[in-house]
Amino acid sequence: MIDKENWWYEEKQGLKLIKFHHFEKHPNFGYFVTTRISGKSTGNLSSLNLGFQDYDTIENVIENRKLISDSQNIPFNSFVFLRQTHSNNIKIVNESDKAKGLLLKATAIQDTDGYILTQRDICPVVMTADCVPVILFDPIKNIAGIFHAGWRGTLKLIAQKGLNIMKNEFDSNTSDVLVSIGPSNGPCCYEVGPEVIDEVKKVFPNNINELITNKNNKFYLNLWAANKVQLLQEGIIENNIIICNACTFHNPEIFFSYRYSRGITGRMGSGIYFRS
Ligand SMILES: [Zn+2]
Repeated sequence: MIDKENWWYEEKQGLKLIKFHHFEKHPNFGYFVTTRISGKSTGNLSSLNLGFQDYDTIENVIENRKLISDSQNIPFNSFVFLRQTHSNNIKIVNESDKAKGLLLKATAIQDTDGYILTQRDICPVVMTADCVPVILFDPIKNIAGIFHAGWRGTLKLIAQKGLNIMKNEFDSNTSDVLVSIGPSNGPCCYEVGPEVIDEVKKVFPNNINELITNKNNKFYLNLWAANKVQLLQEGIIENNIIICNACTFHNPEIFFSYRYSRGITGRMGSGIYFRS
């Protein structure tokens, strides 16, 4: 069961996408968070695999990306893709980045896990399959950010770093910024080792009880809360944060889950876009 508060599934042209109430009030802001529903891929990657994986064909992935482009009315050539490395490196995208990584893995922006978007007609995309997609949107300044945050990116505070770029370089007021935290491996089952727990204690010394659960001597990390906490620390308003509370591992018929499929799985995409 998924508790849907402040978000819903939109079914459109065979796709099933996640929609957030607070973003919908701003029609110039296009965004999508995909599920695995629809698409051409087969087997464990069935069927809307958006990442160039060894287990899928390039043709399938391109077809699947075209489905997003068509259904969201986002020009195909405006997509931008990353070679994600669980870093906290963030790219401020511009016109010259359009179509990077679109048709070939090799042309993606390298060693980067998030973007800041200030311009129209560019659609930066992050890929996830258990890690968290985090979206920030400032509807007053029309600036947005999107980040790939697994435990490494989360503990490297990638979302907080992105917010600080929006504040310091583009004059965003933190109190205006809306946050959506998408589906990922949830606190119900995201088991981590003692080395990760040590790191959590260092980075979030005041939030241990909220972030870590100990069940039968196994430790579970709450990635959603860890991303929320780092944004609250910088002054984001709590009511401006929507968390899907949807666990990829526990809903494998809807989401790709790297852990559920033991590493052989597709990738969901989350993208942001300002319409002309
Ligand atoms: Zn779970």
